[in-house]
Amino acid sequence: MPRVVLLGPPGSGKGTQSEWVAHSLGVPHLSTGDLLRAAVREGTKLGLEADRFMREGRLVPDELVLAILGDRLSMPDCRDGFLLDGFPRNEVQAEALDRIAPIERVLSFEIPESALLERLTGRRSCPKCGTVYNIHTRPPRVADHCDNDGATLVHRSDDHEGAARTRLEVYRRETAPLLAFYAGRHVLFPIDATGAPDEVAARIRRVIG
Ligand code: AMP
Repeated sequence: MPRVVLLGPPGSGKGTQSEWVAHSLGVPHLSTGDLLRAAVREGTKLGLEADRFMREGRLVPDELVLAILGDRLSMPDCRDGFLLDGFPRNEVQAEALDRIAPIERVLSFEIPESALLERLTGRRSCPKCGTVYNIHTRPPRVADHCDNDGATLVHRSDDHEGAARTRLEVYRRETAPLLAFYAGRHVLFPIDATGAPDEVAARIRRVIG
């Protein structure tokens, strides 16, 4: 039963790789960031509470994230495994996850921090099909418009420089210690996350088989 986590700093490319990895493992892709953004868009009580933390690039309180993820994990399609992207982000979440469903593999996206700020602030995504671009390294053919469907690309509010810097600090302080947590459980698989998406994909393929 594949229960896999993609762990890495914001901008390390987890979101870019997650769909095909989930598909090849035959499990659903669960991104807590996507679940929270959907709650914000829908204006649910939880979404309203989460919104201000997200805008500032801070972690949403554990009880909110655990509630939204717990609901999703209890759906039937998660019975035979799942791919988590953006969760856990701290030790409280990792221990909670251990109690719900122990993880068998953690793919750790390794990339020098100097590359991340440009990746984050340059990121634009299509609100219709989800394709992710970067104005520096992977620009769309027509500025600000999706190659697939022409929709106007979105610059996430937390990808602006101030919030992006906060997210990198939060990662360093709260999430990076999970590398030792999972190494101690012998489930950590480092992935070199530098270079083009297809190079990173080839390295992941060698690990997941
Ligand atoms: P992401 O799309 O994974 O970069 O997440 C965007 C934002 O959603 C983060 O900066 C946090 O504010 C919030 N978020 C996503 N996942 C979590 C989590 N596991 N714990 C706390 N906050 C989260």
